[in-house]
Amino acid sequence: MIYGCIETGGTKIVMALVEDCGDKPGKILKKESIPTLTPEQTLPKVAEWFQEEQVDAFGIAAFGPICVDPKKVEYGHILETTKEAWKHTDLLVYLRDYGVPIGLDSDVNGSCLGEATYGAGKGLDNVLYLTVGTGIGAGITVNGEPIHGMLHPEAGHVPMRKREDDPGKCICPYHECCCEGMASGSSMKARWSVPATELSEEHIAWDIEADYIAQALATYTLTVSPNRIVLGGGVMHQKQLFPKIREHFAKYLGGYLVTEELADLEHYIVPAELGDDQGILGCEVLAKRALLRSQLTL
Ligand SMILES: [Zn+2]
Repeated sequence: MIYGCIETGGTKIVMALVEDCGDKPGKILKKESIPTLTPEQTLPKVAEWFQEEQVDAFGIAAFGPICVDPKKVEYGHILETTKEAWKHTDLLVYLRDYGVPIGLDSDVNGSCLGEATYGAGKGLDNVLYLTVGTGIGAGITVNGEPIHGMLHPEAGHVPMRKREDDPGKCICPYHECCCEGMASGSSMKARWSVPATELSEEHIAWDIEADYIAQALATYTLTVSPNRIVLGGGVMHQKQLFPKIREHFAKYLGGYLVTEELADLEHYIVPAELGDDQGILGCEVLAKRALLRSQLTL
């Protein structure tokens, strides 16, 4: 089987053709990114990219908030967003013409599914994936399925307690002090006036950053009880963050939970394993499952 995989982000859209390899990660046959412009400029190009190909199903992981409930009329539509041009856009409009099954989820749920199926969370029931890049987002899989409810998790915006030695301020337009506003790569750049990559490993910035990420992780552990937490995104390439995050995380849990997993934080809070492909491979799993569901309902 060949799947059309599409990962839409705020700055770029990645399209890939992926071949099913059973239990192993799908083979990426072809991949290309285009900049995210307006929906009118971008969506036809995405659909055209697959025109010459034989695609058995599509898998899409999209920036949100997006309606992922097939029972609702807004299914596949972007909801209220700061990206004005994309408000209420039907992401699936051109893809439906292909007449093949479509699997859809939020961008981070897609990445979480990729890591939970093939990467750092493989074999575990409940996995939380947090991406810390220009923004912050969390995807969660429970019993191998990305969780949905009213919407999908938007856990990048959980409230934070600000550190007294933090000279920065929250850059989220919605919240006074949330994780994305305090700990995203964009917020680090605003706070220190240089990109995070230019700060030395010893800079206080990393301890503050680790503290905020740990606050969020403690909240997630207490609410969804993941078997493992996987951290990805550009900021997490800074490996010095991991020991600091684990240290603050243990402090915030305060010894309240005693489990085998939490006794070994090096294996509880871990880096992503699929490089930059967890999103596309998550799309592959979404497509594969959409195809399977369609066959079961025939
Ligand atoms: Zn926020």
